[in-house]
Amino acid sequence: MKIVIAGTGYVGLVTGACLAEKNHNVICIDKDKNKIDKMKNGKSPIYEPGLEELMKKNYKNKKLDYSINYKDAYKDADIIMITVGTPEKIDGSANLDFVYEVAKQIADSVIRSCIVVIKSTVPIGTNDKIEKYINKNVKGNINIEVVSNPEFLSQGTAIKDTLDAPRVIIGTESENAKKKMKELYKDFDLPLVFMSRRSSEMVKYASNDFLALKISYINEIANLCEIVGANIEEVTKGMSYDDRIGSKFLKAGCGYGGSCFPKDTKALHYLATQDGYNLKTIEATISINKKQKIILIEKAKKKFNSFKGLNVAILGLSFKPNTDDLREAPSIENIEILLDEGAKIKVYDPKAMDNLKKLYPKELEYKSSPQEALIDSEICFIFTEWKEIRDIKPSEYKKLMKNAIVYDGRNIYDINEMKENKIEYYSIGRN
Ligand code: NAD
Repeated sequence: MKIVIAGTGYVGLVTGACLAEKNHNVICIDKDKNKIDKMKNGKSPIYEPGLEELMKKNYKNKKLDYSINYKDAYKDADIIMITVGTPEKIDGSANLDFVYEVAKQIADSVIRSCIVVIKSTVPIGTNDKIEKYINKNVKGNINIEVVSNPEFLSQGTAIKDTLDAPRVIIGTESENAKKKMKELYKDFDLPLVFMSRRSSEMVKYASNDFLALKISYINEIANLCEIVGANIEEVTKGMSYDDRIGSKFLKAGCGYGGSCFPKDTKALHYLATQDGYNLKTIEATISINKKQKIILIEKAKKKFNSFKGLNVAILGLSFKPNTDDLREAPSIENIEILLDEGAKIKVYDPKAMDNLKKLYPKELEYKSSPQEALIDSEICFIFTEWKEIRDIKPSEYKKLMKNAIVYDGRNIYDINEMKENKIEYYSIGRN
């Protein structure tokens, strides 16, 4: 099968590399020429463990290629998978401009019938509209069937999540499309779950929004723990023995970020509102997270009237470990506040500093180790629980910082150990 991936970002590149690994001939299209050149030279434009190896192997095998020439790639594809971004608009709705741009390019290019698979997260009803749009604009006797196949990978474990997915959701009622999708996934040995396109689109939003809700719920419980003198780590441990609850996404912290939860909660809430329904759980999830993202600064404000001239160390920038993605990361909002108040900031992150340099080329000092960032600092904020940061010994804060005051948004340390090392330590849901 000739598979073409439209949009080679976190989802597109991982999907393309994994499909090539499963013996398909894959062409990854992107409109960003720099990305294409980089990939042709064996480099991944994003940090994702294991991805570069898979790319190199399959490029060498001629199973995987990269191109900017969409016309040539789309014209005779068996399956075109749309994996472009669907970012948030100001009103919270999903911006479908990139999806429509690809739909137009497909309609202008194809010379035979094919399947178009929408992997991007799109509002309910989008697959129907895109199918209509392409078939209205395509030339000749061509029929395009659009299939919803939402993506559930997590950045940081994306390869495993794709090759070893718990299930693959496929939204189509066409027998021909079902047959093609079975062929696409035949070597994956994964449960294929077929349903209508609208249900499939909803599975994606309902799943992401549920996980975001779980995080906001436990963050609220953590905030209450601080008030009533309970310890959130003990509480979640106790809860997690109940397998109806489980332990995943039950870690209290300084809020969720990333390219999915923030926009997908807002998009579903917006969609419901447009249909006259107020999705109250998601409304609460969004507003809790907004406050939680700046909870460390709020805590620090109780001690420091102003951050002006203060030497600040920031450890961890990406929205979670094992990715270089800074989209909606709590670190960004906090850096903005600290810079506005005139703090002097040193930052460290194992993978995300190059991306941060694009936003703040001169305003911050970039350090090559967490220890360097800590030297002479008067306050430290931890936003991401990278291993390199978890490995810092409590005694090092005491030794390196001018004042050993640490605000930990990921509950990395044992409170008693920090006390024994004479560190003023603030975390989430623990006193
Ligand atoms: P991304 O921004 O990393 O990648 C999108 C890519 O599409 C970019 O490289 C961009 O240059 C390219 N592009 C835009 N228009 C194009 C066009 N007309 N032709 C060719 N390329 C084009 O996005 P992402 O994080 O991979 O997310 C893609 C979609 O998948 C989104 O809808 C997102 O919600 C969803 N999703 C993302 C994740 C994740 O962890 N990132 C997980 C599940 C689902």
